[in-house]
Amino acid sequence: MSRVFSGIQPTGEPHIGNLFGAMFNYVKLGEQYGKNALYCIVDLHAPTNPLAYDKAALTQRTYEMALANLAVGLDPEKVIFFVQSQVREHSELSWLFTVQTPLGELERMTQYKDKADKLESIPSGLLMYPVLMAADILLYKADTVPVGEDQVQHIELTREIARRFNHTFGETFPEPKAVLTKEALRVPGVDGHGKMSKSKGPSSTIGVLEDFGSIWQKLRVAPTDPARVRRTDPGNPDICLIFDYHKLFSDLPTIEMVNVECRRAGIGCIDCKKALLPGIERILSPIQDRAAELAKDPDRVRAALHSGAEQARAIAAPVMEEVRSKMGFMP
Ligand code: SF4
Repeated sequence: MSRVFSGIQPTGEPHIGNLFGAMFNYVKLGEQYGKNALYCIVDLHAPTNPLAYDKAALTQRTYEMALANLAVGLDPEKVIFFVQSQVREHSELSWLFTVQTPLGELERMTQYKDKADKLESIPSGLLMYPVLMAADILLYKADTVPVGEDQVQHIELTREIARRFNHTFGETFPEPKAVLTKEALRVPGVDGHGKMSKSKGPSSTIGVLEDFGSIWQKLRVAPTDPARVRRTDPGNPDICLIFDYHKLFSDLPTIEMVNVECRRAGIGCIDCKKALLPGIERILSPIQDRAAELAKDPDRVRAALHSGAEQARAIAAPVMEEVRSKMGFMP
């Protein structure tokens, strides 16, 4: 039976790029795969990047990410949803893969090079990040991994690690395939500076749980087609982030209206931004309502994660037994 694994960064409250790029897809895949869908908040990865790691905030961010995914519709009764550090086998398998992975293969990783360039002292954990990622996936013998384009190279490395292990110790792991998520949509940041990203700060993001007043303040000042200097100047929606948002949130008649009226200066940019609000509220309101309900009982969220970790361990433990035995460790 096919099994899907996806790692979720514990970055706190997610933004609409995460929502359309990953979270909706988790719910959909969960309906298809049931308990063969594993979603893991990968908190052990957090300390690998000292620029982003915040010890004081890690627990809260992990909790917020869990709460948001549950509010979007991930059902812990149907799928396995858990926190990585609560399943110790991730660290053990990661070490056993580390000792077999050539340094050169890790130094070639583009993401490592990008992050290392920004650091004066590079922790070796940053280099080993993709080995831990390979362990996350292979610990469950998952063969399907929904990822954004930026993770495809890491999945290739995971396949290489599985191949090497199988060759040395006998057939054990599948070679998982990357399934590109709608991350390829590249939801633009509301500040107009490239892709929406938490690392660029709150001026870039629209939070899934953000207050609508605050969302409007960001939209109101968001850049549009720079050729529209005056209200009477025709615009080009194809180069405008507001039109990208309409395509995510608005109904077809609204999208079509903007596509036509922008080009002939039939609407102004503020009107166009106001026309976006009903779609945003239609999609985000039910999520925010569920999040508020869940937030009343944080213990329930934590209990769901603990139960998920137990279910994950039930799959991981026999796999580790098999790995230890094949590698020659004393039982
Ligand atoms: Fe962008 Fe809308 Fe203004 Fe056109 S009318 S430039 S799509 S905000």
